Amino acid sequence: MDYKPQNVICQNCKTQFTIEPEDFNFYEKIKVPPPTFCPGCRMIKRMAFRDYRVLYRRKSNKTHDIIFSIIPQESLLKVWERDIWWSDEWDSLAYGKDYDFNKPFFLN
Ligand SMILES: [Zn+2]
Repeated sequence: MDYKPQNVICQNCKTQFTIEPEDFNFYEKIKVPPPTFCPGCRMIKRMAFRDYRVLYRRKSNKTHDIIFSIIPQESLLKVWERDIWWSDEWDSLAYGKDYDFNKPFFLN
C-alpha cells in the first residue's frame, strides 16, 4: 500500500513525530497498529522493564559458578556466563519451537 508520511502528536509527551511510509509498511507486515507514542516515549516504556543498574550475585544455570547478572536467582529464566552463551557448548535448537507461518508472529 502507498502511504504518505504522517505527523502524529505523542499521546504521552504531546510532541510531534513523523511516521514514515516504510514504517507503515512494517507495522502492516507485523500486524500491529501505528504507534501513538513518540520514539523517545516508546524507548522509555521498553527500558522501564529492564533494570541495568542492579546486578544480582547468582549461580549460573549451566556451570553453577557464581556470576553477576541483571536477572535474579529467583527468576525462571536460565542465565549462563557470557562465554558459554557465545560458545557452541549448547544447542540453540533446544529452545526451538514449531512455527506456523499461517499465523501472525505475535499471536503465537
Ligand atoms: Zn512522547
